[in-house]
Amino acid sequence: MTTFAPLDMLRPANKDFLARPLGMIIDGVQVPAQSGKTFDVFDPGSGRQIARVAEGDAADVDLAVKAARRAFQDKAWSGMKAHARERLMHRLADLIEANADELAELESLDQGKPVGMARHVDVAGTIDYLRYMAGWPSKLEGSTIPVSVPYMPNRFFAYTTREAVGVVACIVPWNFPLMMAAWKVAPALATGCTVVLKPAEQTPLTAIRFGELVMEAGFPAGVVNVVPGFGAGAGAALARHPDVDKVTFTGSTEVGRLILQAAAGNLKKVTLELGGKSPAIICDDADLDIAIGGAAMAIFFNQGQVCTAGSRLLIHKRNFDKVVEGVSAIASGFKLGHGLDPETQLGPLVSREQIDRVCGYVKSGLADGARALSGGTMLERDGYFMQPTVLVDTRPGMKVVQEEIFGPVVVAMPFSDMDEVAALANSTEFGLGASIWTRDLNKMHALAPAIKAGTVWVNCHNVVDAAMPFGGFKQSGWGREHGKAGVELYTETKSVCISL
Ligand code: NAP
Ligand code: MG
Repeated sequence: MTTFAPLDMLRPANKDFLARPLGMIIDGVQVPAQSGKTFDVFDPGSGRQIARVAEGDAADVDLAVKAARRAFQDKAWSGMKAHARERLMHRLADLIEANADELAELESLDQGKPVGMARHVDVAGTIDYLRYMAGWPSKLEGSTIPVSVPYMPNRFFAYTTREAVGVVACIVPWNFPLMMAAWKVAPALATGCTVVLKPAEQTPLTAIRFGELVMEAGFPAGVVNVVPGFGAGAGAALARHPDVDKVTFTGSTEVGRLILQAAAGNLKKVTLELGGKSPAIICDDADLDIAIGGAAMAIFFNQGQVCTAGSRLLIHKRNFDKVVEGVSAIASGFKLGHGLDPETQLGPLVSREQIDRVCGYVKSGLADGARALSGGTMLERDGYFMQPTVLVDTRPGMKVVQEEIFGPVVVAMPFSDMDEVAALANSTEFGLGASIWTRDLNKMHALAPAIKAGTVWVNCHNVVDAAMPFGGFKQSGWGREHGKAGVELYTETKSVCISL
């Protein structure tokens, strides 16, 4: 169907990058795996192999953790003044900006997303995130505490400080590979931690390039280590490593549970950003011109491979037909194509495994009595393409309504009143995000506190910002990322108490 030849049109820097042996980055040097093993990386837009990357395992993780520990204790990092750490982080942001087009192209090729989106969301988001976090080192304040100690006659002076938690394992997924890495590495650096980053097996390329840019920026060796590999190998080894102080993870709820168990050995601090089944709630008074387009983008952005995707569309019964028809028309109108084709609006799903999983969910929904108003199947062409799908005639008990599909599939259901929709919104094990589409402030203020979710958007969806806390209620996670709440989770609070 396409004569598009993505590899021929790559920027020279990326052609060179892909032709190199892509090693892991340990202690400031790019090295092969100790086992000598590599794994193949594929272009999901064509199914073709594009690179070969060092496959890290427990032995490599151990070296990386040792390097991170040494760097954490070394005066070059632990003694660095806050302003110097800020300047280094800004230098890294500047380097990413200088390489933004190359990084966006690499991300698009590796993950599948349209290159324009990779540039303006993933790479721009990464730069912005680093700059936001670069403001924190000089602002990590403690407080003075009025200590009374009623059973002692002495007077006391007490204060708190915030100290870096130590060596942090950052385990990230494949949906926004570079940006997810930044969400974890940037606050770690801001607080003075050191890290070992494990990218997803499907998308290791920009993490390796990021590691190279960290070295170019002049961070001391060992502060940022990158160990590509598989979840069961490198990932599990990091999660159980006795000298890792904290693990921060984004991915599936299932793997989140495994991480928690593995972290129990040395009681690592754990932050988990897990799955979701976020509702987009369209009230009877919503501005439908805005809500229909908003609901479509809430689910189809990044081909639905977004933890906060608006994957349940709850529509007041008066607007039901109009909204599902509008969203289906948008779903059918997208131009699907290779991420590097400038005409492309939606790329492929990330892998064969993922599209099989998503199509399996659609099949199960149809078998349970749902009906597809648009899409529903994989396209007959190279790569892993699926037309966005709208399912109606769905009921709360169905698997497609309860489980995270992580693809371009939305289930639509009508509701009649506000109590009913609040209960419906809360009727999954997840609690990551929700959006309310209304012009009525009373409705908005009644619903926002009733919804058990870490983020509630009003007349928008999937808006994230470095300054705004992000994370999950219920089985969508532990802890928060972004803002002060996120930064503080990379620190320990120390109380110092002085008898005067
Ligand atoms: P995943 O298996 O949860 O993977 C996320 C990260 O964890 C990857 O780096 C993965 O490595 C690693 N990992 C896997 N098993 C591990 C283990 N036992 N110990 C430590 N680390 C481990 O997610 P996935 O396979 O990419 O996707 C499966 C589903 O997860 C998706 O369909 C979706 O439902 C959900 N998901 C959620 C998010 C989100 O942002 N909340 C993002 C991506 C996926 P490997 O890549 O080598 O397996
Ligand atoms: Mg996996």
